[in-house]
Amino acid sequence: MILEGRLWHPQNGLTEGCVAVGDDGAIERVAKTMAGRKQRVCGMLLPAGFDMHVHFRDPGFPQKETWASGSAAAACGGVTAVVDMPNTQPPTDSPTAFATKAQRAAAASVVDFGLGVSARPGISREAWFGELPAAFWKLYPYGKSWEDYRATATEVTAAGGRPLVIHGEHPSHIDMSPPTELAEHTAHRRLAEAECLAGMPASPQLHVAHLSTADGLAGLPAGATAEVCPHHLLLNLDACDSIDCKVDPPLRTPRDNAALWAGFRDGRIAVLASDHAPHLPEEKASDNPPSGIPGVETMVPLMLQQVSAGRLALGRLVNAMAEAPADRLGLPRGRIAAGQPADLIEVDLKAARPVALEQLHSRAGWSPYEGWDAIFPQRVWRRGELVAADGELQASRGGRPLFTAQP
Ligand SMILES: [Zn+2]
Repeated sequence: MILEGRLWHPQNGLTEGCVAVGDDGAIERVAKTMAGRKQRVCGMLLPAGFDMHVHFRDPGFPQKETWASGSAAAACGGVTAVVDMPNTQPPTDSPTAFATKAQRAAAASVVDFGLGVSARPGISREAWFGELPAAFWKLYPYGKSWEDYRATATEVTAAGGRPLVIHGEHPSHIDMSPPTELAEHTAHRRLAEAECLAGMPASPQLHVAHLSTADGLAGLPAGATAEVCPHHLLLNLDACDSIDCKVDPPLRTPRDNAALWAGFRDGRIAVLASDHAPHLPEEKASDNPPSGIPGVETMVPLMLQQVSAGRLALGRLVNAMAEAPADRLGLPRGRIAAGQPADLIEVDLKAARPVALEQLHSRAGWSPYEGWDAIFPQRVWRRGELVAADGELQASRGGRPLFTAQP
């Protein structure tokens, strides 16, 4: 297959050219012109998204999401690779649980996948620690003392190998009592992020998930990387006060949005991730909804809309959604270049349409962005195979593990 049109070149930016894709699903060659039959791209060709933070709830909560439904949402939203978080049932915290989840993903996922593994005290002394092909270790503060939380972070970052991704909220500042309104949930955790990050080890092994506050950004530990989610850039308590928008870390203030935007634009926050966290519509509609906002299908389209509106440089989005997460996790992907997987999206910046619930594929059946203008990709290729077109899935299964061994 040869695709021809405007494409995002990793060094030169948007440029007219051709991409030849081999039968093995890798990009063979990128050149100004090529002989042979070509398919014309309408709009432009970008590297597809790589979302290093999703909760596909499988195994354990198939009513909320499965590898089939979650990966369908990803593919239709221009995301061809994901990393799933370990808070499934059973939790992904051992080689056995890892193998079970990897099998389920390989049997049903349309997109390529990695798995995060839950970190706990002493994990670096397990015989399998250096061998399990985890995307990263993930540390949650829930139900832990600050001393244990900090000690585990120190232990795992000092051990080297895969990165440690933390949920950066201080356990003693997390009040789990049910809030009656959204602002209360935010108030409960006002200091949780800044105080957590102030005590975390300064280590290039550390990655801070879903950064949400101006103070957290200012206090990022030296050497650490961070990600931001669309909901912490685009939503805040003034614009969204419905209790179903409860999410951890919570929605914050316009001041926090502005600081995160500045950090995202200049690359201090390198990575864009969705923290796709679906729940049942009736759970979200209850008086005490569980925390989480679905977002894997709307992440790239909402941010492309920001590009179209002149609020974000296209090159920065390409970096944040494709190059930076790949680089962070040590994967050779995310660029339209020879040897990289042909994970590509066709995007027309003039083709905005409102987010419509009936067109989304997650079992969440809800989105805080309903009715927002977004630019969905027209065609999506995963390793050269067309997996989505015009918001409809074109393939089933076929996803492969992104990590097969530790470096
Ligand atoms: Zn999460």
